[in-house]
Amino acid sequence: ADKFISGLSKTRDSFAEKLNDLVAQYRTVDEDFFEELEEILITADVGVNTVMELIDELKMEVKRRNIKDSSEMKEVISEKLVEIYYGDDTEEMEELQLAEEGLSVILIVGVNGVGKTTTIGKLAKRLKDQGKNVVLAAGDTFRAGAIDQLEVWGERVNASVIKHSEGSDPAAVIYDAIQSAKSKGADVLLCDTAGRLQNKVNLMNELAKVKRIIEREVPGAPHETLLVLDATTGQNALSQAKTFSQSTDVSGIVLTKLDGTAKGGIVMAIRNEMDIPVKFVGLGEKVTDLQSFDAHAFVYGLFA
Ligand code: GDP
Repeated sequence: ADKFISGLSKTRDSFAEKLNDLVAQYRTVDEDFFEELEEILITADVGVNTVMELIDELKMEVKRRNIKDSSEMKEVISEKLVEIYYGDDTEEMEELQLAEEGLSVILIVGVNGVGKTTTIGKLAKRLKDQGKNVVLAAGDTFRAGAIDQLEVWGERVNASVIKHSEGSDPAAVIYDAIQSAKSKGADVLLCDTAGRLQNKVNLMNELAKVKRIIEREVPGAPHETLLVLDATTGQNALSQAKTFSQSTDVSGIVLTKLDGTAKGGIVMAIRNEMDIPVKFVGLGEKVTDLQSFDAHAFVYGLFA
């Protein structure tokens, strides 16, 4: 939890400072207070729709509890942020969904540069630490260097990597990786995929084909389709989420580089507008810098 908090320091410093200033400036909770708060939240990339919803909720709560003093607002804002994050889901599925027995297949999708390969390495490490036998599939045959980069991670975390040459058919790589994982009796296969969004239609067709192979070869798979998004790209991350979720069933989001932005509010926007759980967050470049996302810890961490 401490790691989670320190990884969020940029967002926290910026957000907490502004909020403290706000409370100091407006002692009473009035229309000006809300206007300023709205501005702060939008600047933190919480997203316009989510901010509007939050402000409405806050106004109702202020009325209901007859709150006058702005110093009481931090607690109310935290409560409401957590409530909005979870929405109607009483039980959020934060951890990975894996097969009860046999091979689990996890498909990792996302645009180049968001941290897909790094996330695969971090996830592999995490699964290995849980005693699982992990195989990596080098399904990004398009980007130069992608296969080598995955191999480096494979060596680092001691997981075998199944690859073909650059430019080959990703579906064939995934097929081979599944056979290899099965014959090894592996527990989890993590599949890298290409992320060239310049040719959206081709990419989506390619992902669909890869998915069909996985579905055909492993009943119940893919057990997760994780979309990797870069928190530092703000509203761009949200539009990538929309693009991918239109053509693939994204089951969870990994939000990387949260350590590199003061605009961590994007977590709220993604969860609220996409209705897809943020399963993990990346808080640095090291193999251990991947944390399960916990909205409660996140929100309260911002005010800590
Ligand atoms: P890919 O093209 O999506 O596979 O992206 P990479 O995995 O190669 O990552 C791109 C860059 O982002 C690399 O320099 C990574 O070290 C860096 N990176 C990935 N995740 C994180 C993170 O959570 N925090 C920080 N600060 N950097 C990250």
